[in-house]
Amino acid sequence: MKYVYGPVPSRRLGKSLGIDPIPSKTCNYQCIYCQLGKTTNFTNDRKDFYPKEEIFEEMEKSIILNKDKFDYITFVGSGEPTLCKSLGELILKAKMLSEKPICVITNGSLLYQEDVKNELMLSDVVLPNLDAGDEKLFIKINRPHPSINFGKIIQGYIDFRKEFKGKFWIEIMIMKGINDSKEELIKIKEKVDLIKPDRIDINVPIRPPVEKWVEIPDKTIISLLNEIFEDYSNINFPEMGTFDVYSSDFEKELLSIVERHPMRQKQIIKTFCSDNFSKEELLQRLNKLEFNKKIKKTIYNNQIFWKLIN
Ligand code: SF4
Repeated sequence: MKYVYGPVPSRRLGKSLGIDPIPSKTCNYQCIYCQLGKTTNFTNDRKDFYPKEEIFEEMEKSIILNKDKFDYITFVGSGEPTLCKSLGELILKAKMLSEKPICVITNGSLLYQEDVKNELMLSDVVLPNLDAGDEKLFIKINRPHPSINFGKIIQGYIDFRKEFKGKFWIEIMIMKGINDSKEELIKIKEKVDLIKPDRIDINVPIRPPVEKWVEIPDKTIISLLNEIFEDYSNINFPEMGTFDVYSSDFEKELLSIVERHPMRQKQIIKTFCSDNFSKEELLQRLNKLEFNKKIKKTIYNNQIFWKLIN
């Protein structure tokens, strides 16, 4: 499968069947914490990057194949999904194929645009991020395309929330020394109060970020978060679930997951090891893939991660 992956365990969505209509790594942001690596196609133009019929075909196959094995169909992947011009059509197609809720994980930058707003109205859950409370910090953290304006984004969130009948969950990425001071957190909270999301998820960079200097905040931040945000869902725990694999081709299956989702070594062992495939053999295969320059090992937060070389 080229456009559909999973079901994968998700911190917020249980088991999620991922639809990825965007080539790696196409985005209108260059977030300092991005787990997908550098933005190689930095664009703010919406277009179809692949023939939509091909995506429809894979969605249909995969939804039938995985019937009852997932909780959500999620548009997410190797970049910003709202840059896909046919996103609305893809959401409608997914709705025709399954009764499961449709979720879009987005950076939220284009929600103020009428076309994107109308397309996302068709979904059931929208998860945008908000990592800064003012333009200066927004530029520092998300490094947006020059045509993107912070004020418009916030107004886009406010307007979308008012009209949207589904769930609107905002995720805030908190990083040490970047946006974890009381002053910056209060500024973010002021914007959140204007937007009125259904839920706030606080996240920290648990997977290796593109910029090595990005760090997880100290645990002492929790009391400050409690004081400022009061009611939030702390999701600062790595997923412990296993990924579903469709074939015995270890290399193909592993690469299709780590392309969108750097994996902890422990999670790879849990997903792939069996009576016929020992941990030692698996580690040898990982080292061989690294030797062949397909994946690379990264130590982050005292854990071994494997990610795609890009
Ligand atoms: S984290 Fe998301 S929005 Fe930010 S650069 Fe990566 S893909 Fe784009």
